[in-house]
Amino acid sequence: MNEFEIIKHYFTVPGHRKDVLMGPGDDCALLQVPPHSQLAVSTDTLVSGVHFFADMAPMALGHKALAVNLSDLAAMGADPCWVSLALTLPEIDESWIKGFCAGFFELAEYYNVALVGGDMTRGPLSITVTVHGTLPEGKGLRRNGARVGDGIYVTGTLGDAALGLQQIQGKVTVPEQYRDFVRTKFEFPHPRILAGQALRDIASSALDLSDGLAGDLAHVARASGVRAQLELERLPLSAAMLDSVSREQGWELALTGGDDYELCFTVPEIHRGQLETALAHCGVKFTRVGRMLAGEPGVELMAKGRSYQLSTQSWDHFRSTPA
Ligand code: ADP
Ligand code: MG
Repeated sequence: MNEFEIIKHYFTVPGHRKDVLMGPGDDCALLQVPPHSQLAVSTDTLVSGVHFFADMAPMALGHKALAVNLSDLAAMGADPCWVSLALTLPEIDESWIKGFCAGFFELAEYYNVALVGGDMTRGPLSITVTVHGTLPEGKGLRRNGARVGDGIYVTGTLGDAALGLQQIQGKVTVPEQYRDFVRTKFEFPHPRILAGQALRDIASSALDLSDGLAGDLAHVARASGVRAQLELERLPLSAAMLDSVSREQGWELALTGGDDYELCFTVPEIHRGQLETALAHCGVKFTRVGRMLAGEPGVELMAKGRSYQLSTQSWDHFRSTPA
């Protein structure tokens, strides 16, 4: 098959969205934006050897390339609608493309996201995905809305994907019964779309966790001009984590490990009750891990009532405002 045939055969799937007036095949996609809505748009590129191992299973890659983008929409509280896909491939390998599409479209169908266009070029393997979502006017969850007194929360458990990566690299030994779990967390992250939508009228700020809680939360602290205090004993760690490494190592993986794609968000005290109801409704577990204080913008770690120092070298990177 040539490239046009590949696009036609694999990337032009019958869509069910009425707001796609023109999908793949013309010069542009034409999309109907609902009235009184704002568009939320985000792009992420995954490069072979930089963001994933060259031999990563194509199905996992197809899933992950879309998942990390949808996670950005989740962090904004947006409803996912459309996606475009730019693929750079060293060669046309149909079995690879089939696997990639299986992972990509399974997730796209789950959230009713339509693939509306893209690009195919030859070169070193790289995948660029752009997602589009909609939001009621003014409802986007930004990073700059946290205020002194707000609680800091996260969804799910933290550090499992980083543990999965370390297991794959042979740096830790995860007990047999948890190996699939941590590997799945690393290769098939699940974007927290429902939680993001539920938080729209409740959270004062939100972002998704791609680089570890400490560094990511520092973005919120700086953008909002507040000081984030985390209580490490509260960090939600999975049974897999607790049975694989020490509690301190678990904290470090949660704070500096990447690829969790959970949400971190802040909530004013007056919305605390609403939060319980809203997230229980969508079946998402969440944990309060700290609060926002006045003071120098940055992240402060506490354990057993004392200040805690990370052993990891990345500490300076998020401790305070960069020079
Ligand atoms: P152009 O020369 O105008 O860039 P292309 O040949 O790159 O056109 O693409 C032709 C059509 O196929 C366009 O509508 C484009 O959006 C679509 N397309 C190309 N690659 C992909 C892809 N990987 N997935 C979905 N649609 C694609
Ligand atoms: Mg093109």
